[in-house]
Parts: sequence; structure tokens; C-alpha cells
Amino acid sequence: MSEPLFTFIGAGQRNVVLQVSDASKVLDSPPEELKTNCALRISNVPPCECENCYKALKPFCGMRESVPLPEALFNEAKSVVPEKFHRLIDGATVATVVPNFSADPGRILADPARQRSVTEEERKGDYTIEIKPKSIWQRPVVVGIIVDGGEPIYIHPAKLSHCRYSQMLYYKAERDNDESLAQDVASSYCPNFFYSKDLSSLEGFERLKQKAINNLKVISCHPSFKEKAAGGKVPPADVIADADLKGIADALDFSEIFQSVGALQLYGTYAEDYSKVTPVLDIELLYPWTQAKDKESVQWLVLPADADLPCACTSEGYTPKTELLQQAVAQKPDITLETAIERFYCSVTAKDISLLLSRYCLRLVDPKNGVSVERIKDVLPSLGGVFVREGEDLFRVAAVDIDEKTNKTLDHYYEYDAKIVKAFENGVKKQ
Ligand SMILES: [Zn+2]
Ligand SMILES: [Zn+2]
Repeated sequence: MSEPLFTFIGAGQRNVVLQVSDASKVLDSPPEELKTNCALRISNVPPCECENCYKALKPFCGMRESVPLPEALFNEAKSVVPEKFHRLIDGATVATVVPNFSADPGRILADPARQRSVTEEERKGDYTIEIKPKSIWQRPVVVGIIVDGGEPIYIHPAKLSHCRYSQMLYYKAERDNDESLAQDVASSYCPNFFYSKDLSSLEGFERLKQKAINNLKVISCHPSFKEKAAGGKVPPADVIADADLKGIADALDFSEIFQSVGALQLYGTYAEDYSKVTPVLDIELLYPWTQAKDKESVQWLVLPADADLPCACTSEGYTPKTELLQQAVAQKPDITLETAIERFYCSVTAKDISLLLSRYCLRLVDPKNGVSVERIKDVLPSLGGVFVREGEDLFRVAAVDIDEKTNKTLDHYYEYDAKIVKAFENGVKKQ
């Protein structure tokens, strides 16, 4: 029996993704590398990816090609989609060809190491994981706003020292009634481990693996792990061996994905040079601006930038740095309200991005110190993902989930933010 054309990979909020075994059935004359390595995204609503995120992350996202979906092809696709997701695709007449990030990177590159026979035990080191790195922390630059000549409105002082991720631990502890989430925050993951050049991605990944919450998941792995998990979710700690950690951290660093994602989160736009771009306005300030009677007369309260300050969540307790707010200097906004809103939404998308890392490895080869790491050049750009080789291990780092978040209002983000900082305040007081 021949391989089926479509295999179900997964469903998002708006679409389903199917692996395509032969791209020439959906694309006119696809290049050889793409033939068995692409996927089809089907949705009955138009695609709504954030344009700036796509521009900035193009090497990690790969191709997007819209193709017609005639009835016969649609029915063939639908037949492999679980019924509960049919509502996402019914009525679709077009689809988008995208890279298949769960494909084995060794096979894609026809890797020479793949030529030798690989044992079942070694294959256990082949997997794809999803990492949600969440948001970089830098001390905010615009810390207050004066609207219609009234009293200054400031951001919550927690934001002057603590990343959103650590605040969320307290929020989730309260929301889910699970105190353990807010315990040992100082030894928990902080996104800056990945984003900051002064911190180690390896330590960040170790911390994330220890307390994964839903920021680290296994997407595909050797069947033996799934059997052990008996149909449930496969715990990342089972699949990712301690010996793998360094390779994963190196692959992430060498791919340089965190530079691109961090800049999108901080600035909410794509620029060649970010040095002249003002960071995204906090919702505590953006929202009052939208409520101003005279939007032109608004003044920002600005602190000097200090990008190298470390996030305090892993080092100190919480002491509100309220006095810092008083040092902020009034200044006319250098962007319009409309631009500020656009950038805010782009940053929301960027803060929720998922990275997919697939690893093709020969686990039994000792990851000796001093093994060379290199980013593989000359990979067909449409394939998407950045390929990194470390010794005999091969990694592919990709970005997914860059849909616009404009379906939620600014009111929603304003209220949500207030709940988070309140939970943080309550949580640190209790400790
Ligand atoms: Zn932090
Ligand atoms: Zn964006």
C-alpha cells in the first residue's frame, strides 16, 4: 500500500496542519528538498499572521504558499482530520503550504551520518519539542503618562525589577490554587536566561525542564515514550536526557532566534536597526492614552534605557523601586497612538511565540567537550528553520504560532495585566 497523501499533525485555534507525503500533489513542480517535507495548513478563515513577526522571523518560519483546494483534495484531507476539528476547515477552498517542522532534519539534509545504520536505542534521541520562551525583561523606558493634564499615571513598580514570567508564576498559583507554582521562584526559569548575553541558555533550559508548566512540551518522539505515557502527554524529562541539554542550548544560541524574538517583543516591529526605536508601551500607559480626550497633548514619562540590568526574579526578593518612577522625565511621544497600538499587538504575538526544536541524533556518541558547533548554511530558505550541527547531532530550530492577537481588545489586556500584578503583590507579601 502506498503512503497516504495526508497525515494529521495537529490543530491550532484556527486551523489544522497535515503532513503531505508528496508535495507535487498540491504544488506545481516543488523543489526536490520540499517534496516530502512540507505540510498543509487548512482553515476556513483567512490567514492572519502578524506581518512584522513573519518578516523578522522568516528564516525560522519558512515558506507560505497559498494553493487552491479542490473538492476531491479537500475530502481527502478531511478524511484524516479528527471530527472535532472539522468546524475549523469546513467550507475551505484554499490552503497554505508551509514547512513540516516535525520532519527529521537528518533526512531533509540527506545527512551523511544517517547512512550508517542507527539502532532503536539511538533513535530515542530523535524528537521534536516545543518551547515557549515567553517574554524578555528589560527595565521599561516609558514608565508613566500624563493624560489631559491630569496626575501622572505610572506603571506598577513590579515591572521595574521583575519579568512578566515571574509575575505569572504568582498569578497562576492564585488562579489554579496551586501554591507550588510560586515556590522557589528564585530557582525557576526566567526568560532572560535565553535572551541575555550575560546568562546561560543551558541553565535556562535546565530550569525550564525542571518546572515545565506548559512552556515545554514534547511534540514527537520515539514510540516507546508514548507507550510509557499510556496515551497521555509525554513528560519532557523522560525524553530529553541530561546529556542532550548542552546540544539543545547550543543549537538555540547558534540559531540566533532569541535576538529576533526578543527584539519583536521589546519593540513590536521589525527594523534593521532597533537603536532608534522606542520600546513598546506598557498596557497600563497605552490604555489611558486611548481614553484621552486630547490624544495629541499626551506626555510620556521616560527613564534612561539600561538594557544590561539583570531581571531581579532570580536574585533578590521584591522591593518596589517606586522612587525610580519620580526620576522619569516628561517628553512628547515620538510615535502616534495608532502606531503604539499596532506595536503593542505585534509584541503580544511575539511574547506568545512557540519555538520548535527537532533533534536528530546519535545519542550513543558522547557529547564530548570541544565538539564543534556550526550553523549549516545553504539550506533552501523555503524549507524554514535554522539547522545547527553539533558533532554528529543535527538540530533544526523553527518558529510557529505568529497569529495576530487583535481579536482581544485593549480593555481585555488592561484588566488582565491588573490581575497579574495584583496577584504578584499578594504572592510576594505572603512569602
Ligand atoms: Zn525574570
Ligand atoms: Zn508581530
